[in-house]
Amino acid sequence: MKFETLAIHAGQEPDPNNGAVMTPVYFTSTYMQDGIGRPRQGYEYSRTLNPTRKALQDCLAELESGTFGLAFASGMAATDTVLRMLASGDHVVAGNDVYGGTFRLFDKILRRFGLDFTFADTTDPENLAEALTPSTRIVWLETPTNPLLAVTDIRAVAEMVKNHASKPLLVVDNTFATPYLQRPLELGADLVVHSTTKYLGGHSDVVGGAIVGKDKEVGEKLAYLQNAIGGIQGPMDSFLVLRGIKTLPIRMDRHAQNAEKIAAFLDKQKNVKRLIYPFHESHPQVQIAKRQMKNGGGMISFVMKGGKDAAVKAAESTKIFTLAESLGGVESLIEVPAAMTHLSVAGSALEVDPGLVRLSVGIENVDDLIADIEQALR
Ligand SMILES: *Cc1c(COP(=O)(O)O)cnc(C)c1O
Repeated sequence: MKFETLAIHAGQEPDPNNGAVMTPVYFTSTYMQDGIGRPRQGYEYSRTLNPTRKALQDCLAELESGTFGLAFASGMAATDTVLRMLASGDHVVAGNDVYGGTFRLFDKILRRFGLDFTFADTTDPENLAEALTPSTRIVWLETPTNPLLAVTDIRAVAEMVKNHASKPLLVVDNTFATPYLQRPLELGADLVVHSTTKYLGGHSDVVGGAIVGKDKEVGEKLAYLQNAIGGIQGPMDSFLVLRGIKTLPIRMDRHAQNAEKIAAFLDKQKNVKRLIYPFHESHPQVQIAKRQMKNGGGMISFVMKGGKDAAVKAAESTKIFTLAESLGGVESLIEVPAAMTHLSVAGSALEVDPGLVRLSVGIENVDDLIADIEQALR
């Protein structure tokens, strides 16, 4: 089946008890057993597994071309669970432009447990190779990155990683692209991580995360950790993500259509110093982006000529674009990363330009959106 069909049906069947077409929200913590050690349908306790979460997990696995999916309470809970596969002394190489919360978890928290991190420019696989050591267990990529929308050639990095003696796992945070635009596992990655809070949920009404992978043994390890640590997605939130995913393809097409027009508009504005959009001809990795992504996605970043003051003024002047953190919902959002989402990287090598503005382009009418940006820039 094609992606659009899987987005609606994968992991889901009419309820066997009553034919309910949409997967019910199974608000239950426990399940009747027919005898000791003989649970009815494999369900024993809802931290371990719940039918609504299972439907979401199976759907995510198919959409990412994986063999297993695991759903978590947030993107950070999913990220943390991946890192719990490691032990003190292990080394991780991560992109130098990863999500601020990912950087904070790695640098401020997991270092305390004896993990070692190197942050490197992943857009250049050779430069990345130099950061690997005999103890490297994970290479962590984001593409496109947040907020600079840098694009990394996943296939090239996967090949480099496979040839390295320490055989690290390649993990790709696919939040910005979603499996509709890009499927890292098909390009050689071992695991995909998501903040389903963003495009997969798609309606700014739920916080969630996911891990998807191919290798059965790694899947068993991660399912063990998911149950042992307990950062699971609850049934109501699983339902919301599952529902959001059904419209992912049509939403992503509209997000990108709108974003392309807005990028073209921003490119012509005198008070915009630099436009960043993966499918725009000015993007340094536009060729790689066009090869590995179906469209350019809904995120745009740009640097204001007037620096921080101009960025703050613009972000506070829009009427349809809501000033808010997060991204990926049907409604358009605007923010200034240096002062909002990326405060945790201030003073580090990951610090972003204070004049940078980030747009999450929604699926409203694009003429309304352009008029809004026009008046805000004025
Ligand atoms: C939001 C985000 C996360 C964190 O996810 P939460 O659901 O907020 O915990 C991780 N990676 C990327 C790229 C994100 O945008």
